[in-house]
Amino acid sequence: MTSGHSATIREPAKDLRVAGHYDVVVCGGGPAGLIAAVAAARNGAKTLLIERYGFVGGMSTSALVTPISEFRHFGKQHIGGIPFELLKKAADLDGANVALESGNFPVNDEILKLAAQRLLLESGVTLLYHAWFSDCVMDDGRITHVIVQNKAGRVAYAARVFIDCTGDADLVRAAGFPTVKGDVLQPATLWFQLGGVDTDALDYLFRDAVDGMLPVSAVIRNRLLELNACNEIPIFGGPWINRFFHDGMVSINLLREATDASDPEWFTRTECSLRENLHLMIDVLRREFPEFRNCWLAKSGIQTGVRESYHIVGLYQLQKDDILVPKAFPDTIAKGAHVIDIHSSSSNEQDGLVVPRQEYNVPLRCLVPQGSINLVTAGRCLSADGPGFGSVRVMATCMAMGQGAGTAAALAVSHGYSMSEMNFEHLRETLIAQGAVVDFDNVVNPQAPIEIVDYPAVEKMPAALETT
Ligand SMILES: Cc1cc2nc3c(=O)[nH]c(=O)nc-3n(C[C@H](O)[C@H](O)[C@H](O)COP(=O)(O)OP(=O)(O)OC[C@H]3O[C@@H](n4cnc5c(N)ncnc54)[C@H](O)[C@@H]3O)c2cc1C
Repeated sequence: MTSGHSATIREPAKDLRVAGHYDVVVCGGGPAGLIAAVAAARNGAKTLLIERYGFVGGMSTSALVTPISEFRHFGKQHIGGIPFELLKKAADLDGANVALESGNFPVNDEILKLAAQRLLLESGVTLLYHAWFSDCVMDDGRITHVIVQNKAGRVAYAARVFIDCTGDADLVRAAGFPTVKGDVLQPATLWFQLGGVDTDALDYLFRDAVDGMLPVSAVIRNRLLELNACNEIPIFGGPWINRFFHDGMVSINLLREATDASDPEWFTRTECSLRENLHLMIDVLRREFPEFRNCWLAKSGIQTGVRESYHIVGLYQLQKDDILVPKAFPDTIAKGAHVIDIHSSSSNEQDGLVVPRQEYNVPLRCLVPQGSINLVTAGRCLSADGPGFGSVRVMATCMAMGQGAGTAAALAVSHGYSMSEMNFEHLRETLIAQGAVVDFDNVVNPQAPIEIVDYPAVEKMPAALETT
């Protein structure tokens, strides 16, 4: 018996229905998870994708983060395979532009939902929407089932390999494998889309726009800094203003607040205050800038965008040196090239470093939790230090990680590999055959001992550069 004021209670044990048996279960259908599920299914695994919303896409669709960064670097395309196929599918529906030299592809979030869902179903993935992963069952160090909460109650799904793409390492934590969370997390942002904007005037104002992405306007930023200095508006980022897909529409990354999305009470307070700030900022834009005088709120994210929470403790931690001096990891499954982009949680600023001319390599071991047997992750919960994470977190690279993790999971099922003892050569050959870019052309001498250099090729990020 417990009193109503006890700090803990014991949940009564009960039998749960096992609603399905799969080879691979993927938890979370964001950029990493949806591509992981497609890759697993195409490599022969009977695959279930569990997603809490009624659509996939993660931050790109639920939080309106619509520039997908970045597929190209200095003219070389370093992300191919299933991620590029998804973007081309969205482009065929007029919902993405994959021709841009910058490799930063704008997407229409509504079209991306449709293109991704079709890709999943055509690949034979079983989708389970409106299902919240809540727990798992273990046997002798292996995960045997995940438990989801949905309108049917609590039900279990069995599988041989599990992929955690929840962004916050929900499954890794439930399974009891170690995770870390920095003292200072990158801030969260409620992203929004406006209609009724004088985009022609904005085009004039930002005539040095790169690929349709308007760099931060000194005019707008400086005025907002003044208003922030006299406490009329809260801290903000950018603003980064993207032309959206229809005349008069823009998509804006501006609001910013320190939070921890894995703390439900704190994150609720953040949602409430950013909802207030959203309307305050729209009033300020209307009042201060003629281009926005007649603007109206078309849409805000159905949730505030979360850049960072938990990271796994992986078999390898991706570090700043790995970003700046590309390494020939034998288990390379993805590449990245985005600026090291760290937004301040307490000010209007951010730190950034442009990565060198060569893209860098991401090894599978960053995705495998230490001590696990049949579990792999992909996406923003990977094992990385602060600067490494500042670059690798962008969506094209998360998607490529998803292809690597999904393929590894399917090979583990079909060939009996464990995730920590993967046959790297087999994985690499399979990825190359399926269009993934995992070459070592970016490594000057793969045999050379790793050298820590003084980063001569690295530049401080110019203020106007597009960031995330
Ligand atoms: C404000 C902001 C701006 C950004 N700007 C850019 C940019 O310009 N370009 C760029 O490329 N990247 C940008 N990023 C980074 C990028 O959006 C993320 O790093 C990326 O989406 C991570 O992908 P993911 O699949 O790991 O996680 P997420 O996108 O977070 O997806 C996780 C998925 O899992 C689901 N899920 C979570 N928990 C559960 C659960 N318990 N049960 C069931 N489902 C669950 C979620 O609903 C979601 O679909 C930005 C991020 C933010 C927040």
